[in-house]
Amino acid sequence: MQTDLDWLIVGGGVHGTYLSNMLLQRAQIPRERLRVLDPNDMPLASFFQCAEATGMRYLRSPVVHHLELDPYALRRFGRSGPGRKTARFYYPYERPGLAFFRQHVEFVVAKHRLAELRIRSRAQSIRRCPLGYAVETEYGQLTTRKLVLALGLGEQLCRPEWAKPLAGSPSVQHLFDPAFSRSSLIGVGKVLIVGGGISAAQLACSLSSQGSEVQILARHQPRVFRFDSEPEWLGPRAMERFGQASDPSLRRAMIREARHRGSMPGEVATALRAELRLGRVQWLETEIVRSSVGPDGVSLWREGTTVPILGQRVVLATGFELHRPGGKMLDEAVDSLGLACGSCGYPLVSRRLEWAPGLFVSGPLSELELGPTARNIAGARSAGERLLAVA
Ligand SMILES: Cc1cc2nc3c(=O)[nH]c(=O)nc-3n(C[C@H](O)[C@H](O)[C@H](O)COP(=O)(O)OP(=O)(O)OC[C@H]3O[C@@H](n4cnc5c(N)ncnc54)[C@H](O)[C@@H]3O)c2cc1C
Repeated sequence: MQTDLDWLIVGGGVHGTYLSNMLLQRAQIPRERLRVLDPNDMPLASFFQCAEATGMRYLRSPVVHHLELDPYALRRFGRSGPGRKTARFYYPYERPGLAFFRQHVEFVVAKHRLAELRIRSRAQSIRRCPLGYAVETEYGQLTTRKLVLALGLGEQLCRPEWAKPLAGSPSVQHLFDPAFSRSSLIGVGKVLIVGGGISAAQLACSLSSQGSEVQILARHQPRVFRFDSEPEWLGPRAMERFGQASDPSLRRAMIREARHRGSMPGEVATALRAELRLGRVQWLETEIVRSSVGPDGVSLWREGTTVPILGQRVVLATGFELHRPGGKMLDEAVDSLGLACGSCGYPLVSRRLEWAPGLFVSGPLSELELGPTARNIAGARSAGERLLAVA
């Protein structure tokens, strides 16, 4: 166990991995002074598991958002680098293909030996110590001068109330549950997908193209937006407006309004419409209130109806809970370290993303400072710029 670090990053997904790369290369932190704590062996394990579950073919973000520091590195990798043969882009904005993006992640991780920085465990508690912070893990304690919390939303799956009693049932699965397998749905009969956003649409198209009968149960009609928030949120104008809002509740309201929740980009909507026209996918605008599982499959009831919707399997494409990530571990740290939070529970941090001396945040935890793109790949890059000032 490596102790007395200069930097410890808790969470080795998109954010933690990008920040480790940035600290190594730009801030030139010696490798032995930097570690990334995460329960998964491989960087971005959770991101790829979720992405592959949906059957998505292209990222939603443009070519300049990836793990390497030079924004044009991914484009170069595809045009003249080792990614030449697998390079796929969706225009405009050159959105990279998922397999190609994955190849680039593996290339960057190998090139900068980022996997070697990882400690495979979870942070169980955080407290202050003379050096800075002590983080308790299953294998002992790590101490560090600077601590970054890069916990994503990935561990808090959103399940509608009616689905909670069936959480252990193999017939009702969450799309982002690590146990979910898309291929296990082929040939099982009718699949009911709950949710009306990009993941529901991608999964429906992927399953129907392999012959499954699919029905989407959504609260709304398909909403089409190219990105999950407008590109202006990556620029100074919108962000200045955001920064001028001194009330965190107002910032939270701006984030809520800016994020196109439950939306999908044009090409996903077009593919979905084709499946709807062919009758291979059905879209039902409805709200489910009750469910049960029996020997013949799953029954779902709509409000005010007595006849259930029947299917062999239900997949919840309902995304993540949006409350502050970090669970009990972070709740306790907030109390014991006296960390300031907005009324939404999210950290109130400085411009440098500092929550307390030497304690920094990235990803969703930085939302009240970095705005609607904080949890995207772009947010990791913005967090990197802010952290450079203290590295
Ligand atoms: C299907 C899908 C597609 C997406 N596509 C895009 C896209 O195209 N472009 C884009 O910009 N964004 C996209 N996003 C949004 C976002 O970029 C991803 O969700 C991304 O994975 C967020 O990275 P992260 O590091 O914050 O979180 P995660 O990927 O969830 O990583 C956080 C890590 O922290 C670990 N962790 C949590 N608690 C602890 C603890 N106590 N101790 C140690 N480790 C801990 C977790 O195990 C995890 O490995 C997509 C999201 C999804 C779900």
